[in-house]
Amino acid sequence: MTDVKCPICSSGDTKLKIVSKDYLFLKGKSDEFSVYLCNDCHNGFSFPFLTNAELNRHYPDNYNCFSSHKGFLGRIQRIKSLNDVRVIEKFLKSTGNELFEIGSGSGFFLSLIAEKGFKASGLEPSLSGVKYAKDNFGIDLNNCFFEEFASENKYDMVIAFHVLEHFTDPVSALVKMRSLLKEDGFLYLKVPRLDSWAAKLYGKFWHGYDLPRHRTHFTKKGLIDLLKKEGFETVMFKGDYGPLDTVRAIDYFSRFSKNKPLKYLLRVVNLLPYSVKLIASTLFEVVMSPFKSGRMSIIVRKIKQ
Ligand SMILES: [Zn+2]
Repeated sequence: MTDVKCPICSSGDTKLKIVSKDYLFLKGKSDEFSVYLCNDCHNGFSFPFLTNAELNRHYPDNYNCFSSHKGFLGRIQRIKSLNDVRVIEKFLKSTGNELFEIGSGSGFFLSLIAEKGFKASGLEPSLSGVKYAKDNFGIDLNNCFFEEFASENKYDMVIAFHVLEHFTDPVSALVKMRSLLKEDGFLYLKVPRLDSWAAKLYGKFWHGYDLPRHRTHFTKKGLIDLLKKEGFETVMFKGDYGPLDTVRAIDYFSRFSKNKPLKYLLRVVNLLPYSVKLIASTLFEVVMSPFKSGRMSIIVRKIKQ
């Protein structure tokens, strides 16, 4: 028990899980941030609690990798995205075809959905993403944060890939996502999975923590229970993987680990060409993806409350 209250369920029954830093952009030269685990709702959360203004300082304009649909990594992302499009087609086959994506990044995924004949729109807070989507795919994205977004329109599916973990108030975000859906509409989420082998194996160097940008750290049970409480029923759950997650963990260990033999061993591994590391990391992540993998995909349906 600590005096830090869970921002999701307000319980005081929480415990410190891990202390880590911003390794992605500040290269470990940041303050320390903590992750607490809530024993009541089974989700984790980042501490200290930061305001949106404080968090914005941790988002460089290149936060989204806008060239990720190019090169070998782009090919993997394309295979993953086409798979996601097939899943969407399956769920929307007998219903409508209007989709809305929160956090569209470069607009690449939205362009794939639009190619399949869906009426697809989205929002992206970064101006560079909005410009990229317009210049490369002819897509007009709403340039705003989700909290500022207003629409009279209702959608058959709302998509939020690696978005929910960024909100300071994920419960309000889910309420708003639900309000954008038609009756029986679907919400398609992807988030890192806290109760994964990757979080265990990589510890504070797990990219899924991505502190301080990730504010909530969901377990499978915690996420499904929260979605149920907010008026959704789960219709699909499966493991997912990030091609770069292991590459990043090796890089962070080789630079910041206090375990010297491991640090120097991984420093040698880290000297391998990027393409070799990427292929090996992807293969490893794919093989491990059925077993409590580092990321999870979930589709839920809006139910009457
Ligand atoms: Zn809680």
